[in-house]
Amino acid sequence: MAGYPFTLGVASGSPLPASVVLWTRLAPEPLEGGGAGAEPVSVRWEVAHDERFTQVVQSGLVAALPANAHSVHVEVQGLEPARWYFYRFVAGSDDSPVGRTRTAPARLDRPQRLRFAFGGCQHFEHGYYAAHRHLVGEDLDLMVFLGDYVYEGRGRPGRVRRHAGAEARSLDQYRNRYAQYKLDPDLQDLHAAVPWLVTWDDHEVDNDYAGASPLAPDRDFLLRRTAAYRAYFEHMPLREAARPSGAEMLLRARYDFGRLVRFHVLDGRQHRSPQACRPARRVGPQCRERLDSDRTMLGAVQERWLRSGLAAVPGRWNVIAQQTLMARASLPVGGEPRFRTDAWDGYPAARRRLLRAVTDPGARSVLVLSSDAHTCFVAGLRSDFLDTRAPLVATELCGPSLTSPGRSQRRTDAIVRANPHIEFGNSTRRGYFVLDLTVERCVARLRVLDDVTRPGSGVATLARFAIEAGRPGAQRL
Ligand code: FE
Ligand code: CA
Repeated sequence: MAGYPFTLGVASGSPLPASVVLWTRLAPEPLEGGGAGAEPVSVRWEVAHDERFTQVVQSGLVAALPANAHSVHVEVQGLEPARWYFYRFVAGSDDSPVGRTRTAPARLDRPQRLRFAFGGCQHFEHGYYAAHRHLVGEDLDLMVFLGDYVYEGRGRPGRVRRHAGAEARSLDQYRNRYAQYKLDPDLQDLHAAVPWLVTWDDHEVDNDYAGASPLAPDRDFLLRRTAAYRAYFEHMPLREAARPSGAEMLLRARYDFGRLVRFHVLDGRQHRSPQACRPARRVGPQCRERLDSDRTMLGAVQERWLRSGLAAVPGRWNVIAQQTLMARASLPVGGEPRFRTDAWDGYPAARRRLLRAVTDPGARSVLVLSSDAHTCFVAGLRSDFLDTRAPLVATELCGPSLTSPGRSQRRTDAIVRANPHIEFGNSTRRGYFVLDLTVERCVARLRVLDDVTRPGSGVATLARFAIEAGRPGAQRL
């Protein structure tokens, strides 16, 4: 193999008490299909207690296969819980950068605190990853990514940076797109600094697709989805259980951090019903289809799986890590509420089913995380949004996008005014949330960039919110 193979850096994720996934991909020519050749390459991996690898605790060999774009996913076992480790890979005479990762706490442990951040929507063309650089310095235990890791569109002139090539449709094109994003040093550093939990949204495949159904008719859509899912797996620190089979991939997963918090990572794309009254993107009361009770965002299997996973463990937080805004967020237009059909507002019956599961008193302290809107919202979630006296059963934090452009603040203000359960809305700033979770409370800090178009942008706290355990709703601090 000619050239340095670790151009895309390293990553870790999907942490369990004794196990974590280590990731890399050999790609000496990252933007031209990888360039690692047609043969398997033997890669050595090492896990150590120290950054200089004087105390290696585990090591092994793994084959990087051409069929997997020479990506490797190592599920290291037998680690100690709640502990930092360092890792690296070696191929031929080349060493990878050193990564740092952390295992989850033991199952029955109740850690004092967990600090994690979440974000999503990192459109490469609309900004630099200064947010990622600041995230490295936030002293996190975990990073949660909620989708739109890449955007599929062709390169367009006049933006901050430019996608290489045409709109991604083939396996090669998706691989090259991930490679272009992963060449960014700030994104690489954030992957190397902490383990990630990941889910996807639409742009990892195609804008606003739903299940097997794209927005624009395409008879070959499932072939496109197959390519996109495969490239997604190849570039994420996911467990073997998630490895796609054809056009299907098992992305939903639960991750427990002792008895402090359970993360439910959802897939709101693969199994959803098509958006109501397509191709309109916002619809009013005349769209009856939106209200159909058999419409689903998660699919019946995942709905059941989530309900059983929310089951009572006293004092434990449940964090639902998913894609789209769950709170009712109607926009008044000509005296009439308009709903975005791609978010949970397009699936009100499914939302009611989910939030009813939360009213089980054992499943209190539910935080719903979302992204996709390119707008930060903080909201209380009611068991029934048609009834303003219905109890709040969960709290939602919808992060600002990391880079993707927001909508007008005027419109965001109109949404906040029309929906009293929405506490806060901002669409002018890019950034992320950092959450400090203890048994008693969650403090969420909204961190925003000065200027996403500058690689060296500073970051500041725009707002802070507290959510008390067992008492849904956020208080601004
Ligand atoms: Fe997005
Ligand atoms: Ca999206």
